[in-house]
Amino acid sequence: MRLIIVTLFLFVSSIARSQHKHDKVFFENSLMDSHYYYSKVEYTGGCWIKNTQGKLPVSEHQFFTPGNSLELLYQPSEGGTWKASVLHHNIRGIDAFNEADYLSFWLYIKSGTEKASLPVVSLLLDDMRESQHANLVDFVQSFDLDSWNQVRIPLTTFFTEGTVPVAQINGVQFSKGAASENEGHLYIDQIELIPGMRAAVVLTTPPQLTSAKGYERHIDLTWKKESNPAIKYIKVYRSTDGKNYQPVGIQLPQISGYSDFVGTHEGRIGYKLTFVDHEYRETEFSNVLTASTRPMTDDELLDMIQESNFRYYWEGAETNSGLALENIPGNPTMVATGASGFGIMAIIAGVKRGFITRDQAVQRFLKITDFLLKADRFHGAFPHFLDGTTGKVVPFFGSRDNGGDLVETSFLMQGLLTAKQFFNGSNKNETQIRGAITKLWNEVEWDWYRKTPDSDFLYWHWSPDQEWIINHKLIGWNEVMITYFLAIASPTHGVPASMYYTGWASQSAEAAKYRADWGKTTEGATYTNGNTYYGIPLAVGVSNGGPLFFIHYSFLGLNPHLITDKYTNYFENNRNIALINQRYCIENPKNYRGYGDDFWGLTASDGPEHYAANEPNERGDEGKMTPTGALASFPYTPEASMRALKNYYRNYGKYLYGYYGFRDAINLDINWCSPIYMGLNQAPIVVMIENYRSKLLWDLFMSNPEVERAREALGFK
Ligand code: CA
Repeated sequence: MRLIIVTLFLFVSSIARSQHKHDKVFFENSLMDSHYYYSKVEYTGGCWIKNTQGKLPVSEHQFFTPGNSLELLYQPSEGGTWKASVLHHNIRGIDAFNEADYLSFWLYIKSGTEKASLPVVSLLLDDMRESQHANLVDFVQSFDLDSWNQVRIPLTTFFTEGTVPVAQINGVQFSKGAASENEGHLYIDQIELIPGMRAAVVLTTPPQLTSAKGYERHIDLTWKKESNPAIKYIKVYRSTDGKNYQPVGIQLPQISGYSDFVGTHEGRIGYKLTFVDHEYRETEFSNVLTASTRPMTDDELLDMIQESNFRYYWEGAETNSGLALENIPGNPTMVATGASGFGIMAIIAGVKRGFITRDQAVQRFLKITDFLLKADRFHGAFPHFLDGTTGKVVPFFGSRDNGGDLVETSFLMQGLLTAKQFFNGSNKNETQIRGAITKLWNEVEWDWYRKTPDSDFLYWHWSPDQEWIINHKLIGWNEVMITYFLAIASPTHGVPASMYYTGWASQSAEAAKYRADWGKTTEGATYTNGNTYYGIPLAVGVSNGGPLFFIHYSFLGLNPHLITDKYTNYFENNRNIALINQRYCIENPKNYRGYGDDFWGLTASDGPEHYAANEPNERGDEGKMTPTGALASFPYTPEASMRALKNYYRNYGKYLYGYYGFRDAINLDINWCSPIYMGLNQAPIVVMIENYRSKLLWDLFMSNPEVERAREALGFK
């Protein structure tokens, strides 16, 4: 199971560290209003510090980098203390940091605050240790009130006995200074660890805005991509009167577009940009472009959502390979092979919808197939992660995962076989793409991954030096139906069709134990379920259906209408799993904020601390909602999916909606929104909306002759 694997390897990961180093940033902006999730306040005695649910308030009125900062409003007292800490949030794949000489932040001291009431600052280290304190007043250059000034505290101030590696610094703490008695009021922004010296590159040329396009509640901006390493941010300015421009947001240089969520604003909105360097110096302004929001039909909303999520795989792809990154922001060279398979299908949908031309797609697929032919393969199977610059395996989930991953390979092959049918032209380029895909497909040794010639099961992983050490058998119900299907379909290294029932749908005691172990229930442990949940019958499925990616990943290409085995038809079964998920969210037994018939779709996604799978039962629900859950269910539940789409966009778009579509997840109960877009979760939205609208990807994939033959061999025709 993906969820088990993820949990298993998360803690032994970090072996493959990115070569791409970042400054360690503790705070830039909070995605959510009100208060900042990765903060913590405490107070005792007569002291108090303003907080919401034990977290620091977020101010949208005062900020150094738009759109917000952290507010410190505190009442000291002789007989107590107050503390506020800002904690580092580990973003998947961002795990290598520049060594640093200074703690830097921007400070706004509100008038009425006295020098004596400024706090002390310390660093929080591994094992709950705390560094020595630095008196903030000693590092405030001039006591300017009501303006933003940078504070730099040498790290040597915090450590008398040698320095501590940046990796071990996990937080910054502000606490009551020794002499303070009067109330203090500060705003703090851009808290980070920075080097003392950087290569002196001066930014001279301003950015160039290339488009501003209005949608129902937001404006999309794009600009000319600029790869100068001196650029720290692109800063976005907005004007609603054509005269006064206010800074409204920052973007990372990796992404050359920005979605400005303005709501239903009347009239033209103007935009211009600057580049910001590492010293926070800004270039001159770019050109100005204007746009307005407009009402949109349901069809136009679908186009919009497909296009923004499609961009993840088009503009956001790893440069050398043209394939999908694991997440953005994240490691900029780590390609995820399964997500790339999904992305390949999203790119084809993008041609159909006119986001790009067929020829643009041809050029991309020449690059993709050329890269894949040279990349690491293990008995024809791709690893989970590849370095996009070298094509070498990246054992991101730990040293044992340094070989082939049959499930990821099947997701990639699902996409490639779809592309093979799409690029059906007789010209040289399309012929070359088909030839490359045929070679990659024919060389996957599905039968090798049976481990022994008489095995009832396929195995998830094989390592060139540790062989079957992970020893994970593929047993449904979960996301791996496509793996068995393709293994049976292979014309060169096929496995017997009987493995569908002995492996995927096995009713053996071993398989039942496997399912019961992850489902924490015997319901559905023998593959078939037979119970009713929230009034909905479930023929096949563990627990009450599990996370929704089970009904998405295999069915991006496999048309579930055409898959009927001994137990059920998978369109009906998948639809029922989606309906159970929706009804669970309507009932909302754990009383989480936001849940309802337009806020549903529990599945796997990034979480406040780590990636985790959620499912519609009390054990598997933590209040975290994942937009891809409802949106990739469009073919099954079009009306309920459209309600969720409108709710996520219109009511939560300010937090969730960005240049690559919906951010991965949101938890309203704890006021948290994921900062990342996920390779596994953006494309299923594009592809399944397309399958709902035109069946395009289903029709292409199912038209492969080998897929036809596999259906025949399985008796599904
Ligand atoms: Ca900020």
